[in-house]
Amino acid sequence: MNIILLGPPGAGKGTQARRLVDERKMIQLSTGDMLREARTSGTEMGEKVAAVMDRGDLVTDDIVIGLIREKLEAGDAEGGYIFDGFPRTLAQADALGQLLTELNKTLDHVIEMQVDDEALVTRITGRATCANCGEVYHDATKPIPADGHCTNCNGTEFTRRADDTEEALRTRLLAYYKQTSPLIGYYYAKDALESIDGLKAMDEVAGAISRVLS
Ligand code: ADP
Ligand code: AMP
Repeated sequence: MNIILLGPPGAGKGTQARRLVDERKMIQLSTGDMLREARTSGTEMGEKVAAVMDRGDLVTDDIVIGLIREKLEAGDAEGGYIFDGFPRTLAQADALGQLLTELNKTLDHVIEMQVDDEALVTRITGRATCANCGEVYHDATKPIPADGHCTNCNGTEFTRRADDTEEALRTRLLAYYKQTSPLIGYYYAKDALESIDGLKAMDEVAGAISRVLS
């Protein structure tokens, strides 16, 4: 089963994708994570996209489609793929469709996570991530444990993303509404869209996703 988690920055895509990885042995394909990894390892591509990402704009379609192609061609995920933060433009959506057809795979669910803009600001500005395993925390809703150890891996280093500022979020939201939100209509027209309330608590959102998948 291959699915897309669609929603604005801060909707909870990464949080839910990690749960699906644990519970259903799916593989999370987050283009944001791949691009951040390219930056950390100092590849030429990583350097090229750094300023664009920090500003909150989208990197070019060619780059992210190339990253996804590489992952899909590399191996077969038994539990299926979760596309997290991809596609983000109509061109990316078309490319994903072609790629899946080429590789004899299906797109089974597109789950739109609906969250209002005000909540996104709170979510983004309170986000922290375990530097070791990528577990996602939030200052208010999922605080880093008092002993300073990650609940998932026991790690002690936590990071905040350079683009998790109110200013960059404004650019990211604009990119979402201008370039990504048309995908809601695109997948609705393809009869693939299912929408859930992303404002609910994490467990309730996970339950709603589970119901869609089964
Ligand atoms: P995305 O991957 O869509 O950008 P994240 O999964 O990183 O979003 O979530 C953004 C922030 O919101 C994180 O700090 C996360 O802990 C928090 N969060 C995620 N889901 C919920 C939820 N249902 N309720 C409250 N906070 C949430
Ligand atoms: P994310 O981790 O999904 O919030 O993505 C962080 C940043 O990476 C975005 O603001 C973009 O600059 C870039 N990015 C991630 N995925 C894509 C994509 N599919 N298309 C274009 N840019 C992307």
